[in-house]
Amino acid sequence: MIQEISVISHSTAIGTLFDETHVCGVFESDVIIYKILEFFSISSADAVVLTRDSVPAGILTLKDLVRALHNCDNTGLPVKEFMTAPVTLFDASLKISEVLDQMQECSFKKIVVAKNNTIVGIIDKHHLLSICYAQLTPIIKHEYNMVHSLMGMVGEGERGLLKMATTDTLTEIGNRRLFEEIFQAHQALGEQYTDKLFLLLFDIDNFKGINDTFGHNVGDSVLKELSALVSRSIRKSDIFVRWGGEEFAILLRYSDPSTVVKIAEQIRQLIDKNSFETIVHVTCSFGLTSIQPAETLEQAFERADKALYRAKKDGKNCVRIEMP
Ligand code: GH3
Ligand code: MG
Ligand code: MG
Repeated sequence: MIQEISVISHSTAIGTLFDETHVCGVFESDVIIYKILEFFSISSADAVVLTRDSVPAGILTLKDLVRALHNCDNTGLPVKEFMTAPVTLFDASLKISEVLDQMQECSFKKIVVAKNNTIVGIIDKHHLLSICYAQLTPIIKHEYNMVHSLMGMVGEGERGLLKMATTDTLTEIGNRRLFEEIFQAHQALGEQYTDKLFLLLFDIDNFKGINDTFGHNVGDSVLKELSALVSRSIRKSDIFVRWGGEEFAILLRYSDPSTVVKIAEQIRQLIDKNSFETIVHVTCSFGLTSIQPAETLEQAFERADKALYRAKKDGKNCVRIEMP
């Protein structure tokens, strides 16, 4: 008789599945069929263990019995003629997982479980699997959901940390670190692109004056408004960051320099024509350079900065170019 136990796991001992108050059918193998018939008629069991000198020798299932009785002459024969033999005993202390492993390798359908050589029960392979499946499925589902949500949390945490480390807190656009990382990646993968890489640097004109006249908070608002304005006007693939203070950088890929010069001019005009809150008019000076395949960011930056310096010297609110 199989016990109803509420929680089992792969490490539960197979013996705990059997109710000790229900004795399993065990008969000597030379008993006549009629005796077994009597047992099956009063028991809910569907198999008995047959022993020879008290040692398990085989199993006789209800099906075996029906097959034997098909020929009425058989009723007086000893049951060993119809049993399935030999029989493998599984110790009651074996873990269910160990029993399942061994059953995979064997062809038999039923297993006999014994405790100190006393038979405690027979269980069908499919019955055992169905018990395990029914009991373990909710646990597996629960654990799967837990692992899934934990992985989600780790992923979110990682993404959150990465975003924090590469975002400028005031303007919410990228920061210098993001620019440096992506610059490295572009240089490493450079051969895969046919387009050229460009660096556009720009700096707000007379920003100190804006702070002095309107206050630091208004200065901050200008930085935010300008960042949002430029972000909206460029492609998603262009890397736009706040380099520091009131200075910004854009990393762009285009096939020819004349297009990038036009884009730089468009951004300059966009800012020049925009009506900023409180102070209305803001301008920027721009320095543009193209990036050589093997050069460092410092080398490219030096040229863009030189161009920007010229733009300031030439009266500000203009684009200057310094090609390698
Ligand atoms: P130029 O046209 O030559 O660029 O002159 P400028 O006044 O813009 O440049 P300068 O380097 O003299 O001053 C930049 C100012 O930007 C000084 C600094 O206090 C201010 N600044 C830097 N970071 C921030 C910020 O996060 N918020 C605000 N409100 N001001 C900032
Ligand atoms: Mg400035
Ligand atoms: Mg500056």
